[in-house]
Amino acid sequence: MATTDDSFNGITEHCEDCDLETLHEVSVQIRTESLKKENAQFSREPYRVSECQRCGNRSSQRMNNA
Ligand SMILES: [Zn+2]
Repeated sequence: MATTDDSFNGITEHCEDCDLETLHEVSVQIRTESLKKENAQFSREPYRVSECQRCGNRSSQRMNNA
């Protein structure tokens, strides 16, 4: 199984900039949406961030809607 590489969290998906299926590096970030400082503890949202390994375009989407 030469394709197994657990150290790189890569996934092939469509990139709008490349208009191609390209390899993306995917990670999850917890972002604090600080609309109001006192609400910060209630607005920590996990985001799925994917970065195109071809052009470097980054896209992120909130995961809570799933
Ligand atoms: Zn791209």
